[in-house]
Amino acid sequence: MRKSWALLVAMTMGMTALTGCGADTTTTNPPVSGGDTTTTNPPAEGGDVAEVKGIQFPLEKPMEFDFHYHARNKYVFRPEWPVFQELAKRTNITLKNTANEVATNSEEQIQLQAVDGFPSDIYGGNNTTKYFMQYGQDGAFVAINEFWDYLPNFKAYLDANPDVEAVITAPDGNIYHIPYIQDGGVARTYFMRTDWLDNLGLKVPTTVEELEVVLTAFKNDDPNGNGLNDEIPYFNDKWNEMIRLANLWDARVYGMDTYQERVIPTEEDTVYHAWTQPEFKEAIKNIARWYANGLIDQEIFTKGSASRKEYLPKDIGGMTHEWVASTSGYNAKVEIPGFMFETIAPPKSPSGNQWEEHERLKTKPDGWAVSSNCENPAEALAFMDYFYSPEGRILSNFGVEGEHYDMVDGKPVFKDSVLNGDKAVNAFLEEEVGAQLKHGYWMDYEYERQWTNEVGQKGVELYEANDYSVLQMPPLVYTDAEKDTMDRLLSNINAYQDEMIQKWIIGGDPAVVDADWDKYLAELEKLGMQELLDAYQSAYTNYLSIMKK
Ligand code: CA
Repeated sequence: MRKSWALLVAMTMGMTALTGCGADTTTTNPPVSGGDTTTTNPPAEGGDVAEVKGIQFPLEKPMEFDFHYHARNKYVFRPEWPVFQELAKRTNITLKNTANEVATNSEEQIQLQAVDGFPSDIYGGNNTTKYFMQYGQDGAFVAINEFWDYLPNFKAYLDANPDVEAVITAPDGNIYHIPYIQDGGVARTYFMRTDWLDNLGLKVPTTVEELEVVLTAFKNDDPNGNGLNDEIPYFNDKWNEMIRLANLWDARVYGMDTYQERVIPTEEDTVYHAWTQPEFKEAIKNIARWYANGLIDQEIFTKGSASRKEYLPKDIGGMTHEWVASTSGYNAKVEIPGFMFETIAPPKSPSGNQWEEHERLKTKPDGWAVSSNCENPAEALAFMDYFYSPEGRILSNFGVEGEHYDMVDGKPVFKDSVLNGDKAVNAFLEEEVGAQLKHGYWMDYEYERQWTNEVGQKGVELYEANDYSVLQMPPLVYTDAEKDTMDRLLSNINAYQDEMIQKWIIGGDPAVVDADWDKYLAELEKLGMQELLDAYQSAYTNYLSIMKK
């Protein structure tokens, strides 16, 4: 399979070079995207374009690709999306949906495609990149590193971001997909009912000790003024996020933006498991104490994910740690006189550290790739590369100029109809516009900033003005042997940890944590903790070696 594919590429590349040589210089539209950097400027008058190796858009003849896009268990590709209508104008390339419109499990859909040998030209969606690496190594997807001439924008991005190259390179050294890159920006922050502080004559807490005083007052002193002891001082939509309170006592909790990743990298290039550290034990003892004192939602482990939606409009939730854009949005939605749910800086730990562990994952496990069955991989990849060009990036983030945004001082600004429409901005873009899709594109944080509530923007500025960040674990690429280890051990270890941590917190007795701790560590060793850490270390060392090469 691999060999015949290589031959196909050689033929296609030859053909494309011919097309480039014959490109029509009299065309009235300057190329919107040069395949090669020599074509990014319109050719000088009478200029010689014989050197052009890449692909010039729009193509002389229209081209169509079959596109299997199934994302987030509900979205399939829709060719009528304005972004792709506009792309068709600019490139002369259209995509045709091949994904099952009624299926509700995106991963299952791509696994079914694997059984069929990936017959479509292009594949995309969330949580796809592991399949691109796995099946790419078997020859099912085009190695895009053999097509750099057609990917000048993405190549330039990788050259400037070796950390991204290190996490999209498969164990065989090839790159099989273009990923969805999230733009930095502030992610989760601490939020507090600052109008409750005012009601009780309290100040914003700056240390964990002051925070405990505030939460205790929220619990006991009727900050919502209804005469009932109905306040829930600290809550989270997900209990896993609540565990991150351990940060306030100097303990790391998650390596990156997923609750399954609990191994942390160090500045010395080593790794350790956060949930076995002495400071983590001390933190859990404090969280158990807070829970016993009613400072943490007593339903945190059973509530599901509806706490913000329920507690904020009911005027009973005091504090959380959540995504800044969606959480600050409650300030506009909740109809309670004086309601202020504001970002506060991370309270300092007893040792004086002030940090925010949560960050957006830069390289998402989402992306798109070209099947080895595609007859024109160079054109397909040039089309995908366009999403990383300056114009393509605006289009894939903001939609179509004049329809969804206007250029103001050289920057795209959403129209009021988008910002204040019936749907949330991100849902509208993903469902109606074809922007912000979970395939290979490069997010621009400005898109999110524009729909972040004023209160949230203040919070963003606070977190941006201070660097609270800590070292993140990258999404590692595992060899087959390492992957076996992870598959065998990780979920059992996490499940045992979840069980014990829940037991300790609900029990509410710090002494029990002390009494159980050594048994807990011994059980984790039995479950293969050292072997797990060895697999992480090996993959992390490999990541560093690619990044530093
Ligand atoms: Ca009350």
